[in-house]
Order: sequence, then C-alpha cells, then structure tokens
Amino acid sequence: MKKKDIIFIIGLCIVIGIMYLVYELTQKEKNGEIEVYYHNEVIETIDISKDQTYTFEGDYGVFHLEVKDHQYRAINVECPNHDCEKVGWVKEGSSRSIICAPNDIYVIQPDLESSH
Ligand SMILES: [Zn+2]
Repeated sequence: MKKKDIIFIIGLCIVIGIMYLVYELTQKEKNGEIEVYYHNEVIETIDISKDQTYTFEGDYGVFHLEVKDHQYRAINVECPNHDCEKVGWVKEGSSRSIICAPNDIYVIQPDLESSH
C-alpha cells in the first residue's frame, strides 16, 4: 500500500468519525420525553431535561415521579407492593418502564420504539 493511500484512509476515518460525532451530538440535543399513563391514557408528557417532581393521583393513592439529571424514578408512592419504587432510577434512552399496577399508572419513554 502506498503512503498516499494510507493517509487517504486515515483522513477518511477522521471525516467519518467527525460526522458520527456531529450526528451523536445533534441526536442528544433532542429532548427526551416521558409519558405517564393512567388507565391506559396519557395524562402527562414530561420533558426529561427539567428537574422536577410530579404528583399524580392513582387508583390506590398518590404517585410521585422525580425527574433529575435526565433520569426519573417513582418515589413516595402509596401502593401496597412498592414495585414501582424498586425499579429505581431510569436513565434517558432506557427501555425500562415504571409500572404501578395498584394505581394503574405506568411511565414510559415513547421515542424509543420509533428510533430503534
Ligand atoms: Zn406502586
């Protein structure tokens, strides 16, 4: 292989790398959204980039959703099993959903299914 060819290939790799980085960065600028469902209907669409705690009224009691650092979790939920709180922090881009069956509330990231 000629030296010229090697330089060309390295240059091509750098260009592809930069293009990939730009693509990744622009993808991340798109704010993730979470949807809160109650009785299988969207009751709230939440911007994951805003740190805030939301309160919802479920069938059993109160359901709190804490959003922080592009992550979210269920806290201080009034339900008998607390399975929803055991899920813990869910990161942006994660396909894990928080389900609180006693309250008939679940929290998902709707963008995931369409982009993957
Ligand atoms: Zn629960």
